[in-house]
Amino acid sequence: MGWSNPKAPYNAILCHIKSKGIRVYHREIKSGACGLFDCRKMIITISKDLKNTYEGCGVLCHELSHFCDYQEGKFLKFFEERLTEKDLDLIIKAEMSAIKNAVKLSKMWEIQYSPPELTKKGFDESVEFWKKYYFQ
Ligand SMILES: [Zn+2]
Repeated sequence: MGWSNPKAPYNAILCHIKSKGIRVYHREIKSGACGLFDCRKMIITISKDLKNTYEGCGVLCHELSHFCDYQEGKFLKFFEERLTEKDLDLIIKAEMSAIKNAVKLSKMWEIQYSPPELTKKGFDESVEFWKKYYFQ
């Protein structure tokens, strides 16, 4: 089991995402995020450094998970509204949903993906990042 090169699974996940009508761009993301999902434009942006990497596969799965939650009508406020300090619980719920679902999806593509948020230290660091990222 497993891939000798991340390019093949990366492309497989990319094709799957595009088949859902989502455009995917690889760009430098100034905020420091690895990926973004824009529900209005149906665009996923991935940090260009992660293209064709195993970590990038996990990030694609993460953004795809946000899309699935959005399609299912989950966490709509998270996707559609400007967020403030009061929404931290919602942000954590929406992000942890994507993080956990990305692990399941990456297993389907035979990728080993261990998001840092699944450790206490990684989770605490991510909460600090989300505060800076979402509260503008
Ligand atoms: Zn996310």
